[in-house]
Amino acid sequence: MKDKDQIRPREKGDVPDDPLSRMRHSASHVMADAVRRLRPNAKVAIGPSIETGFYYDFDTEPFEPGDVERIEAEMRKIIAENLPFERRVVSRDEALKLFRSRGEKYKVEIIESIPEGDEVSYFQHGDFIDLCRGPHVERTGDIKAFKVLSFAGAYWRGDERNAQLQRIYGTAFGSEQELKDHLARIEEAKRRDHRLLGKQLDLYSMDELVGPGFVLWHPKGAFVRFQVEDLIRRENLRRGYELVYSPHVAREQLLETSGHLAHYKENLFGGMELDGQRYLVKPMNCPFHVAIYRSQLRSYRDLPLRYSELGTVYRYERSGALHGLLRVRGFTQDDGHLFIREDQIGDEVARCVHFALDMLNLFGFKDVDLFLSTRPESFMGDAAVWDHAEQALKGVMDGLGRPYKMDEGGGAFYGPKIDLKIKDAIGREWQCSTVQLDFQLPLNFDLEYVASDGSRQRPVMVHRALLGSIERFMAVLIEHHAGAFPLWLAPVQARVLSVSEKAADYATEVVERLRFEGLRAEADTTADKLGAKVRRAQMEKIPYMVVVGEKDMAAHVVSPRTREGQQQPAEPLDDFVRRLAEESAMPQLPSLQPAGYPAGSPAAGSRPPVPGAAAGQSSQFSQPSAGPPTKA
Ligand SMILES: [Zn+2]
Ligand SMILES: [Zn+2]
Repeated sequence: MKDKDQIRPREKGDVPDDPLSRMRHSASHVMADAVRRLRPNAKVAIGPSIETGFYYDFDTEPFEPGDVERIEAEMRKIIAENLPFERRVVSRDEALKLFRSRGEKYKVEIIESIPEGDEVSYFQHGDFIDLCRGPHVERTGDIKAFKVLSFAGAYWRGDERNAQLQRIYGTAFGSEQELKDHLARIEEAKRRDHRLLGKQLDLYSMDELVGPGFVLWHPKGAFVRFQVEDLIRRENLRRGYELVYSPHVAREQLLETSGHLAHYKENLFGGMELDGQRYLVKPMNCPFHVAIYRSQLRSYRDLPLRYSELGTVYRYERSGALHGLLRVRGFTQDDGHLFIREDQIGDEVARCVHFALDMLNLFGFKDVDLFLSTRPESFMGDAAVWDHAEQALKGVMDGLGRPYKMDEGGGAFYGPKIDLKIKDAIGREWQCSTVQLDFQLPLNFDLEYVASDGSRQRPVMVHRALLGSIERFMAVLIEHHAGAFPLWLAPVQARVLSVSEKAADYATEVVERLRFEGLRAEADTTADKLGAKVRRAQMEKIPYMVVVGEKDMAAHVVSPRTREGQQQPAEPLDDFVRRLAEESAMPQLPSLQPAGYPAGSPAAGSRPPVPGAAAGQSSQFSQPSAGPPTKA
């Protein structure tokens, strides 16, 4: 079967040869057949199986909601007919003739791209034929449980200059129960969609006038982002990083030297010419940090140098690829670049991976998958250096005491890398942290340091992002928590609702008392009915609602109610304030030298404690330990 399966064309997206993918791809044939039976003039484009189901693209009028039932009913008929999927192999010319006669111009275009003289395979069930390499299930009756999910616009070959097509998404499973579970997961994901919650909670927006893919953070979203960024900066300082800032525009030459111009040309914003110089908007922070390194002659004693920046970069993405906060055109990386000696690779990469794990844990992501990607077939530099680096990285991974996956040959041409993926509350996986070695950029910029013997040596660079893009991480946080941020992140922690006009003054007093303790509280003293006030607070997912009436005022107590609907007993106002302050503390930050750091690694605190990292913060921000520890 295997060699015959190699006969082209395989559709874009491929059909992985496992039973579920086979059934889903077969279901896409059945769906295409159903659409053709309902709309004989519809032209079919492509219909691959995808991770959670399948889709098929059609050249036809847009579908309407009622079409879901019509298409499903037709599909059920085809499945009941239990037609065999029959594979045929013909010459390229015969295939052209066949699909031309049926008016399938997209299939004709695919066949035309095949070299002359080649053979082509197609599959037929009933009257429906589809250019395809398979594999499929044996008969249409083998499709056990399916559902037509949604309609979307798409472009032929994914290019907006091409014809607009109508895409239908569907899914199929081996049993009705599995399908039911899957549909429940989709509903849950919808409930958590950060685009809807972003609007409902007034976190952010995007404006056509500003431009697609550019995020406007509203006060509440900006506050959550501030907390995240604040934590990142403080932790970077505690771990021996130095903060840097770099501009958003630079001369084209910088990106030419770094190699980004050649590599990223399609994704670059800008292209301004001023005073006879060409300028671009920055797509990457790395070359700027390199420029800081180059600003003076470095000695082996200066290394490792660790720079960090919440660096905002701009990359053009096709408008069809944009998706909420997950895929944008301007985003901020929690970027870091290390300049190290070759003998420091193991220690420093270990520190980066621990740092990443600590940060992810701190945000509540305990389930982390690790991947190590090694030398690809074409790589730059010295094989011996690669071997040494890969050994060091393997050592780091082995030292973690948790499983990891190897991606042999999956590294970048300029160095091996480690990726971390987290699982969210409903089991979806998100790529966040990455730690990459780079032998190329130091070469492009001719970076050097003076070694202990006085010779000039080239440093190795490490690129690392812990949370990745802040925008993307915010999306993950919103969806993970379904918008119900934990207390330390919640932009409003308590809302005080007055029952009557007489209680309004007391509501204001409670709010002032909470604010004085550094807590984020507001009062709802509007004339609305209490029920309306409660619903509003619930919609905004505010952790505590405090309803106050005249009796509470007289006794100076409050009766808080949690976001989950739990009514707590009345307690003195002072007690509530103290309790809320305790509950709002930032999660405990891990110690700086957890077990597992390689012995003899240089202490993060080889520099004096950084002012502001420990002292003089409000109670919410106080750190568990004062400043970076010194090594015994
Ligand atoms: Zn097929
Ligand atoms: Zn970088």
